[in-house]
Amino acid sequence: MLSPTPRSTIGRKGHRARTEREALEEVLDAGLICHLALIVDGSPIVLPTGYGRDRDTLYLHGSSGARSLRAASGAAVCVAVTVVDGVVYARSTNNHSMNYRSAVIHGTATPATDKEHGLRMITNHLAPGSWEHARQPNRRELAATSVLALDLTEASVKMRGGPPGDDADDIAAGTAWAGVLPLRQVWGEPEPAPDLPAGIPVPEHVLRHGVP
Ligand SMILES: Cc1cc2nc3c(=O)[nH]c(=O)nc-3n(C[C@H](O)[C@H](O)[C@H](O)COP(=O)(O)OP(=O)(O)OC[C@H]3O[C@@H](n4cnc5c(N)ncnc54)[C@H](O)[C@@H]3O)c2cc1C
Repeated sequence: MLSPTPRSTIGRKGHRARTEREALEEVLDAGLICHLALIVDGSPIVLPTGYGRDRDTLYLHGSSGARSLRAASGAAVCVAVTVVDGVVYARSTNNHSMNYRSAVIHGTATPATDKEHGLRMITNHLAPGSWEHARQPNRRELAATSVLALDLTEASVKMRGGPPGDDADDIAAGTAWAGVLPLRQVWGEPEPAPDLPAGIPVPEHVLRHGVP
């Protein structure tokens, strides 16, 4: 179970809160990118970035020259992962909504103790199987990369699913269409690099990306 603190307790629409750890894992495994929020030089900044997860740790990485990553190390941060599952059309614009699964993590980002492990988790979240398939980072590349770890202890999960919640008057009026337009992200056909020598087939881990 997640153990919400005051700042990670969902206030509005509390019935959409989920407190099982499995719900957090579901969102983090379904999302592709996160948004990292922190204060840099007194100003808030939100950055889209990749991530990876191993059990109760979220990993983030970037160039060791990146100002935001340097500022995030040892600092209070907030990370959001959002998966949009559909647009909810209601009889009134006021009741339009989205079906979604989202997670917010609060905590202090610290330099990962095992940088390569963090990079493996990040690589295999984005491109499962690539850590084992492609060349792994050399010493120079590792030195040029920061890897941060964020504990998944203080986190919240919110989910909305199902049809619109319309007002009785609007349902009775019965003129506007109401329902859900599901949104699904699908991978396309792999596009080999133009300089790929002939005879290297698309590997199984690429073909199977996203296949349950
Ligand atoms: C795709 C998407 C679209 C949305 N669109 C809107 C919109 O247009 N208008 C709107 O008002 N709200 C929208 N929301 C909901 C929004 O994220 C907030 O939950 C809501 O605005 C309540 O804000 P609050 O300041 O009262 O947060 P509070 O509920 O007071 O936040 C307290 C704590 O609850 C947690 N929390 C809050 N929201 C979320 C969340 N979504 N996921 C996980 N943890 C959360 C955080 O830990 C936060 O610190 C949307 C959410 C998603 C995922």
